[in-house]
Amino acid sequence: MSAFDELMAFQHQTEALGQVAGRLGWDQETVMPRGSAAQRSEEMAAMESVLHARRTDPRVGEWLAAIDDAMLDEVGQAQMRHIRKSFARTMKVPADLAAQIAKVTSRAQGQWAEARASEDVAAFLPVLREVVDLKRQEGQALADGGDVYDAMIDDYEPDMKAADLQAMFDAMRPRLVALRSAVLDKPAPRALKGKFPPRKQMQLTRKLAQAFGYDLGMGRIDKAVHPFSSGSGHDVRITTRTSPRDPFNCFYSTIHEVGHACYEQGIDDAYALTPLGQGVSMGVHESQSRIYENQLGRSQAFTGWLFKEMREAFGKFGVGTPEKFYATVNTVHKGYIRTEADEVQYNLHIMLRFDLERALMGGDLEVEDLEAAWNDRFEADFGYAVDKPSNGVLQDVHWSVGLFGYFPTYSLGNVYAGCLHQALRKAVPDLDAQLAQGDTSAATGWLRENLQRHGGLRRPAETIEHASGMAPTSEPLLAYLEEKFGALYGL
Ligand code: ZN
Repeated sequence: MSAFDELMAFQHQTEALGQVAGRLGWDQETVMPRGSAAQRSEEMAAMESVLHARRTDPRVGEWLAAIDDAMLDEVGQAQMRHIRKSFARTMKVPADLAAQIAKVTSRAQGQWAEARASEDVAAFLPVLREVVDLKRQEGQALADGGDVYDAMIDDYEPDMKAADLQAMFDAMRPRLVALRSAVLDKPAPRALKGKFPPRKQMQLTRKLAQAFGYDLGMGRIDKAVHPFSSGSGHDVRITTRTSPRDPFNCFYSTIHEVGHACYEQGIDDAYALTPLGQGVSMGVHESQSRIYENQLGRSQAFTGWLFKEMREAFGKFGVGTPEKFYATVNTVHKGYIRTEADEVQYNLHIMLRFDLERALMGGDLEVEDLEAAWNDRFEADFGYAVDKPSNGVLQDVHWSVGLFGYFPTYSLGNVYAGCLHQALRKAVPDLDAQLAQGDTSAATGWLRENLQRHGGLRRPAETIEHASGMAPTSEPLLAYLEEKFGALYGL
């Protein structure tokens, strides 16, 4: 066997074990008995140490040294790019630093949850200080003298740089601030009225998942506190949640996670359990969830179909026509919470976190000043003051678990979705007529063919360019938002 074949066989098993670890995580969030938590954390730690040993196995270094990438085909070269990169990353971070980060972030997550419940920022700051210091050290180890925050972004969105994100956000921010303030001056659409039994929500949510092409023969939908999707290839599972008065929470969380899941299910079987067999980056992943959820799921055409389905399932609910229903689905509302934000305001939440975490990592902002910086920035962009820490600096779990550089990928997903949507509309001219029948097959088929099936074959920006025919830019997203919400709110 050649060194390449030996490496790929080894890698195949590592990927399979990684899937097993992911399944343990899924189980923990869905059906695990409450009394099993302590044992589960030992099981997961054991899996993690097996995986770490494989990732740092000296044989991997020997195979990498023996392989001449230039002798491989395009797919082989792409596999090697991923394997070399993740091996180099693992070797750059000292084992004791990685262990310390795992320990501190696990403690920090608990302290963050307590601080958020008691609205006590001061109680969270000491452990956040530790997390920030450790992540800075890790960033320095990864950066090789380059920009620390760039090195962190690279973990989630390979090749992306903070300066490029800054330029992108600078172009977006004034237009989004102007749009949100114009829209919020207008009267709000009607809200839903009524009760929406969870059992019926779950029935309709399964129908929605299937309408968007999710293969339930190789997936499943369960309830969890926070919706997520996990797994790849032939076992991709999603979760959703129900709230008796707000069925949109269930339906649009489901469509979002279905977007993630269909990306994983759509990848070419030939890449199964290899580095190419999963979404290429967080941003590209989020582009799939967002285009399913927003550009398709919240379109006028598709909400017309959903209106009929909801009338059948729930009877009358206070919104009497498909036109009014479309406005209700797309309500722009004042609010503090990123995960509840509408399409107009969502990216403003991300820009706030991007600037603050970049300053934290660069040493330009101390954790003691974080809350004040957050509140000032929020009021500048949203026009009203944060009322309590759980609605402000304590709302997201990310920083407590050391996820610095992750937030920008949410906005990149929206930007990429804007590019893909523009190209999709050209490729499928009668898209609206199909969506109005609840038929997304042409849209999801186009995404699968042009983007999803390729997995990690190309770099993230190339993946978007290959599918949409354009280098990623925020212009299509901004034009789409201004047109859609301009028409909805009569601007
Ligand atoms: Zn997502």
